[in-house]
Amino acid sequence: LTVLGIETSCDETAAAVVRGPLDKNILSNVIRSQIDEHTEFGGVVPEIAARAHIEILDRIVAEALQKSKCSWDDIDAVAATAGPGLIGGVIVGFMTAKAIAMAAGKPLVGVNHLEGHALTARLTDDLDFPFLLLLVSGGHSQFLLVRGVGDYERLGTTIDDAIGEAFDKTAKLLGLPYPGGPHVEKMAKKGDVTRFRLPRPLLDRPGLDMSFAGLKTALRTQAKKLEPVDDQTVADLCAAFQRAVADVLAARTKSALDLFRERYPDTAPAIVVAGGVAANQEIRASLLSAANDAEARFIAPPMALCTDNAAMIAWAGIERLLQGPVDDMKLPPRPRWPLDQSNAGVLGAGK
Ligand code: ATP
Ligand code: MG
Ligand code: FE
Repeated sequence: LTVLGIETSCDETAAAVVRGPLDKNILSNVIRSQIDEHTEFGGVVPEIAARAHIEILDRIVAEALQKSKCSWDDIDAVAATAGPGLIGGVIVGFMTAKAIAMAAGKPLVGVNHLEGHALTARLTDDLDFPFLLLLVSGGHSQFLLVRGVGDYERLGTTIDDAIGEAFDKTAKLLGLPYPGGPHVEKMAKKGDVTRFRLPRPLLDRPGLDMSFAGLKTALRTQAKKLEPVDDQTVADLCAAFQRAVADVLAARTKSALDLFRERYPDTAPAIVVAGGVAANQEIRASLLSAANDAEARFIAPPMALCTDNAAMIAWAGIERLLQGPVDDMKLPPRPRWPLDQSNAGVLGAGK
């Protein structure tokens, strides 16, 4: 199968052509980030994002097709993100996909963006179901049990801010540019991690839920006491913040692996990390050591496939098509779409 994928749910306009499931191959993977359009506002502006998607999506799709060296005859289906995400962008991408599918006479697959993240590791690695997924991005922070295509269970989630969001807000608070994650990481390298003591929210409670909003508040309180805050203090605060996040994720990862072993005593556990925050080296190292301690496999797909991209959407399309015929022409674009409802009530109202 050769599938054209389209992704427009946030601030990257992306199209890709992927072939599989045998001889898995990313024939093209074109991404245009809108970061420059949003930087001056310190975050993604939905209206600007939707307009930017409209302006460029045609060209991105044409480029993806050209780079893949495929003609329309070679394409078996069109897959596009149908949610969740910023609804303006989702509408642009999904309606474009519907038009292309209709004009070219190809089946349409409406992909849940989170399902794209969840299945990426099966494109890049040899990985069987079930496995654990830790999704850590600007909009999501959750542990998922991936039992099969369309069969997900959310084991735990943040009860407030997503981790990427917490990084971005912390950066803003400390006067660092958007998107904050990479800047916080860079500053943290120069920081003294022992100077400030931040909480490890929710770790005193069982389960896999997490909380990051309190961390940011605690950091603000510490920063306020020291105003004006010098560069070294910013670095020390970044180091403390990053350490706290990494500790929370490592502890929760251990619990998630314990739970996996209870449920599947005969399956070797594997944990996959995805989302923009997976770029963070200290967080990666903590997750790897948590997995090693638990004698579990740790999989981190290449960064370009961890953050938003269309190859993961095309791949999810392939996985869905392998389950049987798909026709999502009547599927509406959805701003909210929890992954554990992927198969149920798809045409109903979003939660
Ligand atoms: P979603 O995919 O959930 O809709 P998104 O598009 O914002 O949200 P991504 O593009 O996957 O998510 O990731 C962007 C987020 O990752 C931002 O919040 C950014 O600050 C964070 N991030 C990127 N690099 C790093 C890093 N090195 N350390 C920490 N966070 C990072
Ligand atoms: Mg993004
Ligand atoms: Fe994403």
